[in-house]
Order: sequence, then C-alpha cells, then structure tokens
Amino acid sequence: MLTSIKDRSVIVTGGSKGIGKGIARVFARQGAKVMIAARGEEAAKAAAEELKTEGWTVDYRLTDVTDLAAVEALVADTEAAFGGLDILCSNAGIFPQAKILEMTPEDWDRVLDTNLKSSFLAVKAALPAMAKKGGGRIVLTSSITGPITGFPGWTHYGASKAGQLGFLKTAAIELAKYNITINAVMPGNIKTEGLDGLGEDYLATMAASIPLKRLGDVEDIGNAALYFASDEAGYVTGQTIVVDGGQILPESLEALEEARSP
Ligand code: NAP
Repeated sequence: MLTSIKDRSVIVTGGSKGIGKGIARVFARQGAKVMIAARGEEAAKAAAEELKTEGWTVDYRLTDVTDLAAVEALVADTEAAFGGLDILCSNAGIFPQAKILEMTPEDWDRVLDTNLKSSFLAVKAALPAMAKKGGGRIVLTSSITGPITGFPGWTHYGASKAGQLGFLKTAAIELAKYNITINAVMPGNIKTEGLDGLGEDYLATMAASIPLKRLGDVEDIGNAALYFASDEAGYVTGQTIVVDGGQILPESLEALEEARSP
C-alpha cells in the first residue's frame, strides 16, 4: 500500500481521452486534485464531469501542449485552483502514420512538437511551481515504439518517443536539486477508444503477439504512473518502466509460439 496522494495537485496532459483519461481516473480515485489538459473541449469536459460525478476534484483547461505560453497558463491556473502543483503527467501525444517517402517535413515537425517538445515545455513550465512547493514528481508517457521496437509509418513517432527518454536522463540530473523526480512509463499496446473502430478480429490479432494474451488497460499505465508519483518512489529518478504484458520479450517466433501455447 502506497502512502496516500490525497489532495495532491496533478496535471495530466492529454487527460481527455485514452491513456491520459485512465491516468486522470487512477489519480482522482486516490483523492488527488486533477487538472485535465487537452485542446478539444467536448472530450475534456466529459472526462472531468465523469470523475466529478463520482465526487472527485477534477477540472480541465483547454491547452495546446506545443505552446509554451498556454502551458504556463495551465500551470498558473492549476496553482490557483488547487493551491500549487505536485505532480505533472506529460502524456499528450499523436501517432499519425506515414512512411518516409510520403512523410513531409511538416508531418515530422507536428509529431516531434506534440510528443517531444511538449515534454520539455511542460517540465519547463512546471519547474518553478514545483520548486516553490519544495519538490514534485514528473511522469512522461513514452512508448515501447522507438526506444525498443519499430513499426512501419512511425519513424517520426518512434524518434519522438525515444527522444523523450534522452530528455529524461539529463532532466533528472537538473531537477534533482529541486527535489523533483522525473521518470517515464513505456506502454505497449493499450486499449483506448481510438482502437474501437478496428474490430474484434484485429484486436485479437494484436493480443496474440502479447505473452499475457491481452492488450493493456489504460489503468495499467495509470497504476505505473501512480507508483512514480508516490512518496515511496522518492529515490527513483531518470528511470523507465515497460508496461506491455511481455510484448517485447519473445526473441523469435518460436518463443512467441511457446508463450501462446495453452
Ligand atoms: P489518444 O486516445 O488519442 O489521446 C490523446 C490525448 O492527447 C487526447 O486527450 C488529446 O486531446 C491530447 N492531445 C493531442 N494533441 C494535443 C495537443 N497538441 N495539446 C494538448 N493535448 C493534445 O491517445 P493515447 O493512445 O491515449 O496516447 C496517449 C499517450 O500514450 C501518447 O503520448 C502516446 O504516444 C502514448 N502511447 C499510447 C499507446 C497506446 O497503445 N494507446 C502505446 C504507447 C504509448 P485533443 O486532441 O483534444 O487535444
């Protein structure tokens, strides 16, 4: 049992959908005060309302994570609403597919800005607020794609997710003097609303490549983020945790067949 994070103030970027919504849910249900940040109002409002209906303290701010002024305003609003900032989950991300021959420089920049530059901007904006409180916790959502695996059409995505881990190592050293830790969760294939349209057969095929024989739930990622945000993880910084049901482990088709056998 981890020490309670009740009443801690948390920002979850990309908290209106998918994994971020799961992270927001896990933290809110622990009694933390959660600020959801995303661009689209309908989903952000709905995500906040859903948790407010359960009795938790949750709000949202429309924020483009590629815009430093917007992220600074998000931090200032969160401090005003919740009395400071304790935890930042930099999770917002996009994953459009384009193979190298078709990819435009603009495609590349949009993915790198949204997935990688956003982590730098969010950390930069959060640092003074956390320092004021004597410390804090930052959790990045990276991926197995890029740092460990590859998938056609995702060179820009993979570069952005591996880039977050490069950022993490030096950021951890710079933030240590402020008593701020920074770590990253590396999800495998996680079940989100975005996958709903793919059909049961497609999802079953995806699950078949995972030793634990299922896609991850958004709460699986939320729980890993919760650990990094806990008091008990206070001596852990600059680290990563893969949450993928063992997806990256089989080194050959034979190994995968063994994992798949009943
Ligand atoms: P998702 O369901 O599409 O949700 C993405 C979230 O990010 C939404 O809330 C979206 O809201 C927000 N967002 C996108 N661009 C933004 C911007 N410029 N400013 C602010 N918010 C923005 O995606 P997901 O699958 O949950 O992915 C979340 C994170 O997990 C990403 O970093 C992704 O790389 C990582 N990940 C996902 C998986 C997976 O299997 N799903 C696996 C590994 C890693 P708006 O569009 O309204 O702004």
